Amino acid sequence: FKGKTIAVIGSGLIGRSWAMVFISAGYRVTVYDVQTGQATHAIEEISKQLKELQEAGMLRGSLSAQEQMSLISSQEDLKQTLEGAFFVQECVFEDLTAKQDIFQNLESHVGEDVILSSSTSCLLPTEVFLQVTHKKRCIVSHPVNPPYYVKLVELVPHPETDAAVMKRTYSLMKEVGQSPVRLRREIDGFALNRIQYAVIAEAWRLVKDGVLSVADVDLVMSEGLGMRYAFIGPMETVHLNAEGLEQYMQRYGEGMKRVLSSFGPVPDFSGEAVKMINQEMCELIPSDPQHLAARRERRDRFILGLAKLKKDQ
Ligand code: NAD
Repeated sequence: FKGKTIAVIGSGLIGRSWAMVFISAGYRVTVYDVQTGQATHAIEEISKQLKELQEAGMLRGSLSAQEQMSLISSQEDLKQTLEGAFFVQECVFEDLTAKQDIFQNLESHVGEDVILSSSTSCLLPTEVFLQVTHKKRCIVSHPVNPPYYVKLVELVPHPETDAAVMKRTYSLMKEVGQSPVRLRREIDGFALNRIQYAVIAEAWRLVKDGVLSVADVDLVMSEGLGMRYAFIGPMETVHLNAEGLEQYMQRYGEGMKRVLSSFGPVPDFSGEAVKMINQEMCELIPSDPQHLAARRERRDRFILGLAKLKKDQ
């Protein structure tokens, strides 16, 4: 698809990141935002970020920051934004009505072969694309923040999505250097959040039931499971921890079932438990903007280091 145009609709955090990923691979990108001046502002921010990335040796792709910037432009008019685009990545607020309206609007301006892709984190394709007539060209491409460093993209089809649309989107994501995964059907929470929520729920129960402190439950992940999960997933973990997956299950399957059946019900994440757990968390990291900003800066610095390490693998 190289040299072709991708339209990015919505120029907030995620819209900017998608734009940076696409131009890094040589695509032309047109950015549109409903808020006047916002898309222009986004392009200025991207320019700043690309220069910083170039200086830090972390710029993606083989083009210089300046070459990448020559591929991006902003538009105040939706119809012009979509002119010549073969792929549209929607990144507007996570609001169902807003998404449904924008997709209905987008469809009225583009040909039937243009792929309409949504960044939604948790709305199902059947809901997001409800108002679209030709749903076969619709797909969810859910990124993880920040997509520039965290490469996973969950591709989630609408029941009517054409297999060729899934294939083309998968190829595009691979080509721009992301790591796409294909869900074979839509499911609430997609895959990442289903797994993430399972982890959060058990961490919550262990703290609430007085087994572990907040600090220690986080250490179980950051100094234990997390050490390997940046490089191998749970399936490979199992496969390597015995002479293959089947032998692991013969050895540990019964024990896993016993432990899993001792898990409590879904927590309600409210009431006294929230107050107690929040207080313990805030003793470690106060929830005022300065402390949170400092910890976010630390998190992003570490993610960048990890991205570098993975790149050099
Ligand atoms: P954001 O609030 O930073 O940006 C949203 C942008 O969309 C704003 O600039 C707004 O002006 C613009 N907008 C609103 N309605 C519009 C319309 N009708 N047409 C054009 N532009 C419009 O939001 P974000 O964090 O970038 O999230 C965007 C999408 O990406 C959401 O669906 C969100 O769930 C998803 N997402 C977010 C994250 C994250 O961590 N922030 C991660 C993955 C996916």
